[in-house]
Amino acid sequence: MRRWWQEISGLVLPIACGGCGLPRTPLCEECAQELHGPGARRARPLPEPAGLPEVYAAAPYADAVRAMLLGHKERGVLGLARPLGAALAGAVRAAVAPAVREVPLLLVPVPSSRRAVRARGHDPARRIALAAAGELRRAGTPARVLPVLRQRREVADQSGLTARERAENLSGALEAVAGAGRLLAGGRAVLVDDLMTTGASLAESARALHMAGGGRCPAFARTAAAVIAASPMSFDIKRN
Ligand SMILES: [Zn+2]
Repeated sequence: MRRWWQEISGLVLPIACGGCGLPRTPLCEECAQELHGPGARRARPLPEPAGLPEVYAAAPYADAVRAMLLGHKERGVLGLARPLGAALAGAVRAAVAPAVREVPLLLVPVPSSRRAVRARGHDPARRIALAAAGELRRAGTPARVLPVLRQRREVADQSGLTARERAENLSGALEAVAGAGRLLAGGRAVLVDDLMTTGASLAESARALHMAGGGRCPAFARTAAAVIAASPMSFDIKRN
């Protein structure tokens, strides 16, 4: 449930760019360029957590992209869901080879904690996943959102934790809902999130999906992952 002031502020405040605050546009050209510019690329955190699938990200987490993600996530600027969803759709396309796009893409959002969803009044990753699925469908790729992961227990807020602490905080924290294996069997699962920091959430999500498939189902064997943004460093490092 959104707070009343979020509903009202969207109606009465003048529109400003979600990236830089430029008035009279929900997203200016320059900030759109930062979000979609060079296209989605492989992003690898360092250190790379065990079990992390191949992750593709639309943009580095900096400047306007950071402002947009925070605006959407923390301030409920829901008008940003569509451009952010389009960026995520680009990362999903990069993560999944065209040859396997005939089967429906099943976008599985990394679940937020119930506490965070309550505090924010919405579930940002799920909202962006829905926008991305819509974008993919409009472009002719069958896609839908399957929110089959959930938290088994409350986890501490990840911000302020080191990579190792994040991994420990999340270890075994997620599970797939009953029947997830059946729901996912007919398509290609792609884990989606708004932001990859250390990769701990995506690695734990991949593990939970794998368990849902009993470790055998091909739908889970090569889980891909796509995010809107990842730390700038995770794009730069060359590793052979
Ligand atoms: Zn802007």
